Amino acid sequence: MTIHTYLGDLPDGLKLGPIVAIDCETMGLNPHRDRLCLVQLSDGDGNAHLVQITQDQTAAPNLCALLTDPNTLKLFHFGRFDIAAMFHRFGALAAPVYCTKIASKLVRTFTDRHGLKNLAQELIGVDMSKYQQSSDWGASHLTDAQKDYAASDVLYLHQIKDKLDAMLARENRQEMAQSCFDFLPTRAKLDLAGWPEIDIFAH
Ligand code: MN
Repeated sequence: MTIHTYLGDLPDGLKLGPIVAIDCETMGLNPHRDRLCLVQLSDGDGNAHLVQITQDQTAAPNLCALLTDPNTLKLFHFGRFDIAAMFHRFGALAAPVYCTKIASKLVRTFTDRHGLKNLAQELIGVDMSKYQQSSDWGASHLTDAQKDYAASDVLYLHQIKDKLDAMLARENRQEMAQSCFDFLPTRAKLDLAGWPEIDIFAH
């Protein structure tokens, strides 16, 4: 496994595959208050690409081209947060997207354990508990432990998606899942626009 680190944007000419796993690290969970610090990507080949986002940066043309490329599926775990974080910072709305958390909720109805660590353990037998989570992602120099953790959040999503796709097919919920994925960018925009915890479908 190789971790490539870049400052500000993906390098020109970097070709990733048709499905790119993406995760973000931020200063916290409030997208209006807490800035985006790091975007991690992997195309499922076992390697990770880490893009450090600087404090006042508002553009990342290569990353945004990938986010909006209609021929590249952006693969997230709880994409709602990441899509909002990157839209808020760069104005680029990721699409098309897939979310392993949504897929899990649609088929793994026998459990309420839909965290990434749960899915990695139960679907592909990978133990992610060795990685450390919370840390100062705004630091200009990231430690090797931080990079390993950040990379781990994108390295297994392709394998997890394969397992969930098989379950979605088995349970005949592919179409419902696709409709949820298609709505996800709008759900992220609603979060930013002032409807973060309100179910607009509720009575
Ligand atoms: Mn993460």
